[in-house]
Amino acid sequence: MQYLPVFLRLQQQPAVLVGGGTVATRKARLLLRAGAQLTVVAPRITTELEQLLEAHQGVWLQQAYAADCLQRQRLVIAATPHEEINRQVHDDAQALSLPVNVVDSPALCTFIFPSIVDRDPLLVAISSSGQSPVLARILRRRIEAMLPAAYGRLAAFGGSLRSLVKSRIPAETTRRLFWEQIMEGSVAEQVLAGRESRARQMVEERLKDTSALQHGEVYLLGAGPGDPDLMTFKAARLLQSADVVLYDRLVAPQIVDMARRDAQRIYVGKQRADHAVPQDQINQLLLDLAQEGKRVVRLKGGDPFIFGRGGEEIVRLAAHGIPFQVVPGITAASGAACYAGIPLTHRDHAQSVRFVAGYLKGNKVEHDWQGFLSTTETLVFYMGLVGLPVICEQLVAHGRDADTPVALVERATLPEQRVIVGTLGTMVAKVAQESPRAPTLIIVGDVVRLHQDLSWFGEQADR
Ligand code: SAH
Repeated sequence: MQYLPVFLRLQQQPAVLVGGGTVATRKARLLLRAGAQLTVVAPRITTELEQLLEAHQGVWLQQAYAADCLQRQRLVIAATPHEEINRQVHDDAQALSLPVNVVDSPALCTFIFPSIVDRDPLLVAISSSGQSPVLARILRRRIEAMLPAAYGRLAAFGGSLRSLVKSRIPAETTRRLFWEQIMEGSVAEQVLAGRESRARQMVEERLKDTSALQHGEVYLLGAGPGDPDLMTFKAARLLQSADVVLYDRLVAPQIVDMARRDAQRIYVGKQRADHAVPQDQINQLLLDLAQEGKRVVRLKGGDPFIFGRGGEEIVRLAAHGIPFQVVPGITAASGAACYAGIPLTHRDHAQSVRFVAGYLKGNKVEHDWQGFLSTTETLVFYMGLVGLPVICEQLVAHGRDADTPVALVERATLPEQRVIVGTLGTMVAKVAQESPRAPTLIIVGDVVRLHQDLSWFGEQADR
C-alpha cells in the first residue's frame, strides 16, 4: 500500500490554499464542504471563490505567497500554475511538518485527494494511488450508480442508535450481527423509504430479545483455483461477514484480503508434508470458534468437496448442531482446463472426464489402473507432481499408448501459469527439465492436442 486511507476531520480547523484559479476553486469547495476554516493566498481569485469565501467566513489574503502564510495551519494545498511557487509551498510545509498537497504533482504531495462518492455521512473514497485517476473516476461512477442516494440517511439512522444499541448489547460480535441484520433487512428498507420512526420502533422491539444472535456458524467456501475473480458472489459475500477466516496455502492472498479488516486470520497450512495445523486440529478449531459464537469461514482452494477434505471438516460441526453452509468453488481442473485451452470433454475426443488423486502412498500411486485405459476419457490428476513418473509408467505398463498427450498445468489461472505439453513417454524428462512449482495439475488424453489452437495465454508460456 503506497498510501494510508484516512478520513480527516477538518471542521473548524484552519487550512490554507495557495492559488485562486479554477483548480483552486474546486479544492476550496471541497475543503469548505468538510467544514474547514479556509484561508486563500493569491493576488487574484475567481468570482466563485470570492463568493464561497464570503459565504463560509473564509479569508482571502490578497498577496503573493510568503512562508508565514502557513503559520498556525493544519493542512496546506498549493494550486497555483507556477511550479516554483508550488515547490516553495511544499518545502515550507515540509519544514513545518504540515501535510501538503500540490495539485497534479504527486511527487510533491504528502497526501492525495481520492475520488469520492458522497452520501453524507456515508463517504466512499477511491484512489489509484495517483497512478490512474481516470480509472478511479470510472470506478466512482459505478459505485455512484450502486449506492442509492438514501444510503446517507441509513448511515445517519445507524449513528442515532449507536449508543443505545451499544448499551443494550455489550458483546461486540453479537452487536455486529445485530447491526448487520438491521442494515440488510426490513428495518433498512423502512429507512430508505423515509419511515425512520417506524424503523426506530422496530429496532427497539428487536433489542428486547437478542438471544437468536448468539449462535456461531461455519461457512466452508470454495475460493477457486487462484485467480481471485473466479470466486462466486456468494462466497465473497459470506467471506465479508466472517469474524474469523481459516485459510491455507492454495488460497490467493487477495482473496484472504477480502475479509473484513478486523476479522481474525488463521493460516492452517498445507504444503505437501508440511501440515501447519493437522486436519484433526482444524476440525476442532472450527467447532471451538463456532461455539464461541463466531462466524467462521473456512476458505478452501478450488472446490471444498473435491480433494478438499471438506466432508471431514463439517462432520464434527453437524454432530454438534452447529449451522453450516458449503459453497462450491471452481475446481482446479476446470480452471486449468479453461485457462490452458484444454476442454475436458469434446465430442470428437473425450466423452467423460475423471478426477484422480495422484499422490504417492509409499512410493506407489494406488489405483485400479486397468480402469484407466479408455482413450475417450480425459484423466485429470490432482496432487500428482511427485507421482508423475509412477503415473506415466503405470498407464503405459497397463496398455496406454506412450504417445498419449499429457499436459502439466503449473499454477493454473494465475499470472505465472505455465503449460508443459508432452506425452506419457516424454513427460517425465520434460518436467525434470522445466522443474515446475506446485500447485500443478496433470491432464492426460487426446483433448490436450487442442491446447495449441485454443490457448490464449500466448505461446511464450508454453514449452
Ligand atoms: N479442492 C481443490 C483441490 C485440493 S487438492 C480443488 O477443487 O481444486 C490440491 C491439488 O489441487 C494440488 O496438488 C494441485 O494438483 C491442484 N491445484 C489446486 N490449485 C491449482 C492450480 N492453481 N493450478 C494447478 N493445480 C492446482
